[in-house]
Amino acid sequence: MLLTFQQAKQQILQSVSTIKSLTSEKVGLFDALDRITAENVVSPINVPGFDNSAMDGYAVRLADLKQSTLLPQAGAIFAGDDISNLHWPKGTCLRIMTGAPVPNDADAVVMQEQTEKSDLGITFLREVKAGDNIRRMGEDVKQDAITVNKGTKLTIPTLSTLATLGIGELAVFRKLKVAILSTGNELTPIGEPLSGNGAIYDSNRFTLKLLLSKLNCEVVDLGIIADDPIQIKQALMTASSQADLVVTSGGVSVGDADYTKAALEELGTINFWKMAIKPGKPFAFGKIGNALFCGLPGNPVSALVTFYQLVQPLILALSGLEDSSMELSFKVKTATNLKKSVGRLDFQRGVLQINAQGELEVSTTGQQGSHITQSFNQANCFIVLEQERGNVAKGELVTVELFNALLK
Ligand code: AMP
Ligand code: MG
Repeated sequence: MLLTFQQAKQQILQSVSTIKSLTSEKVGLFDALDRITAENVVSPINVPGFDNSAMDGYAVRLADLKQSTLLPQAGAIFAGDDISNLHWPKGTCLRIMTGAPVPNDADAVVMQEQTEKSDLGITFLREVKAGDNIRRMGEDVKQDAITVNKGTKLTIPTLSTLATLGIGELAVFRKLKVAILSTGNELTPIGEPLSGNGAIYDSNRFTLKLLLSKLNCEVVDLGIIADDPIQIKQALMTASSQADLVVTSGGVSVGDADYTKAALEELGTINFWKMAIKPGKPFAFGKIGNALFCGLPGNPVSALVTFYQLVQPLILALSGLEDSSMELSFKVKTATNLKKSVGRLDFQRGVLQINAQGELEVSTTGQQGSHITQSFNQANCFIVLEQERGNVAKGELVTVELFNALLK
C-alpha cells in the first residue's frame, strides 16, 4: 500500500518526541542569527527607558497654552541630557530634540513645523492634545516581559529588538549534527574526472550540504559509499554514532536497495516507504541507535523535493523550533496545461508571476521528470496537485506553495 504524504509527514514528526532535546549554548548576539532560542528571553529594561520626544519641537504644559498660545522658551533639552535638575518655570516652553527625555510635567511635544518663532517666544499655531509626540516609557518593550519565546528562530528584526535591550549574548540550542552519505557505485565526487562509462557526479551530497548549512546544521560528510553491504553497514554505524540525524541518498528503491536495506534492517528500525507522491516515491525513515535516519531517493529532483517537504520540517523540529509551519500556500489559476496522473500527490515546480492583467498566475517550468534538475532552476513555487486529480487544463485553479528561504 502507498503511504500518503500526510501520513508520512505525521510519522516523521511524531518521532521528534522520542528524541532528547538538544543542549543549549551561549552565543553572542551577532552569531545568533538563524539560531533557535533555548529559553524565554526576558527584558532587563523598559524600552523606551524614559518618556522621550518623537519630534524636534517644543515641550509644553496644556495649562500654560490655555493662558496663551505664545510662550517664551526657557531652555533646550538634547538627546542624552540628564534632566533631573531641570528648572522649567510655569508659562514657558522648552526646546526639545528627538529622543531627548521629556520632563514629567510636560503634557505634549509640539512639532517645530506647527510653531512660529519670534523675539517674544514661540507661537503655537494648532490645537495641542495631551500626549502628542511623546514616546512613553516601556511602550515598545516592558521590563521583565518575555520578549522572545523559547523555540523562536532569531531573525534580523528580532535580534534588532534584543539589541535595543542591550542583550549581548543569549542561550540557543546547539546545532543539530547531521551525517550525510551517498550510496552508489556510479558516483564520482564533483570536481574530479568521471570515473568511467556509466559514471555520474554525486550531485546529491553537494546539494544536501548546502541545504543543511542553510538550515544551520553541523554537517558530518561521510562521502560516497559503494553498493557493498559491509561498507554501507560500517558507514551507517559511524554516521549514527556521530550525529543526531543521518541522511543518505540513493539505494532505497526496489532495484538496488537491497544492500542498504539489509544493512539498515540489521542496524536499526527502518521503514521503507512507498509514498503516493511525485517525485519521490521511495523513502526510508527510522532510527539507528540514538540517531534518526532519512533515506532519500537517488534521483536529484526526488531527493530535493523529499528533503524540502519531509526532512526540512523534521530538522526544524529537532533543532528546537516551536512553530515549524513554513509554507505559504494559496490557490491561483494555471497559465499552462499540467500533466498529471491520478493516484499520487504531485509537487510540480512552477513559476508564480503577475500577468498582463495584473493577476497572479502560475506556469509549469516544463519537463517534470525526477532527473530533470533544471525543472527547479526558474521555479519559485511548488504546484501542489491533489492525489486524485488528473490532467489540469489551463485556467483551472491550482494550489501553489511558495518556496521558503531554503531554496533561495
Ligand atoms: P537509486 O535510488 O540508488 O536507485 O538511484 C536512482 C537514480 O538516482 C539513479 O539514476 C542514480 O544514478 C541517481 N543517483 C543516486 N545517487 C545520486 C547522487 N548522489 N547524485 C546524483 N544522482 C544520484
Ligand atoms: Mg543506487
